[in-house]
Amino acid sequence: MIEFRSVSKQYSAHAIALREVSLDIAKGELVYLAGPSGAGKSTLLKMIAAIERPTSGSVLVNGQDIGKLRKEGIPFLRRNLGLIFQQQKLLNDRNILANTMLPLLVTGASKAQAEQRARAALDKVGLLERAKALPLELSGGEQQRVSIARAIVNRPQIILADEPTANLDRASADKVLDALRAFHAVGVTCMISTHDEYVLDGAARVIHLDHGQLVQEQS
Ligand code: ADP
Ligand code: ADP
Repeated sequence: MIEFRSVSKQYSAHAIALREVSLDIAKGELVYLAGPSGAGKSTLLKMIAAIERPTSGSVLVNGQDIGKLRKEGIPFLRRNLGLIFQQQKLLNDRNILANTMLPLLVTGASKAQAEQRARAALDKVGLLERAKALPLELSGGEQQRVSIARAIVNRPQIILADEPTANLDRASADKVLDALRAFHAVGVTCMISTHDEYVLDGAARVIHLDHGQLVQEQS
């Protein structure tokens, strides 16, 4: 479903983020992307969403070469992706139900339909009873679960989560991970990046990155 063929990414003469990375991720897999800060994890995930493009090599999603995608094709690609990136903040002036409805309203769903789907999504991350709360009334972990609800409300085939447990205590992090793993359990392909070792406990597949290189893979 996701394939990297000798992918390198160089931002500038001194910033080489990925070096000849090749990997294959099958439909329905849950894959952790591990490595220290600066290893290239975000860059790798961004390439799947066409936020960054490879300097060389190719990235294929469902057989489609993302590097060759035209601008018009990007919204179609992203509709299939649930993106949980740190820079995608919740809107603090509206409640979490409204935040979760937003991706559906943008793609033309009716308000009633959007509300029903958003409620189902909040239910899946255990926050339905907080639907009317504002983001800042929630803990960091709860806010992160709202981000997950917003990312999956369009029912994407693939979830990409960049350091979803960053800055969370262990109990909150576990709830965030449980929410993500529940989507894997119903067949969604998931990639979760982390620099925290405990996140990898019990993982079936971990891809380790260091200085932009694939160092080791345990299956
Ligand atoms: P990680 O997610 O593992 O922390 P990143 O993919 O964010 O790693 O970064 C990998 C390397 O690429 C780092 O050295 C980082 O400084 C560099 N880098 C990331 N984004 C940019 C950018 N937009 N411009 C220049 N260098 C970047
Ligand atoms: P409905 O709104 O028709 O009741 P749901 O949104 O509740 O449907 O989803 C039905 C089932 O599909 C649930 O068990 C859900 O977990 C599962 N499912 C499969 N793929 C996804 C996805 N990408 N996002 C959310 N749920 C999914």
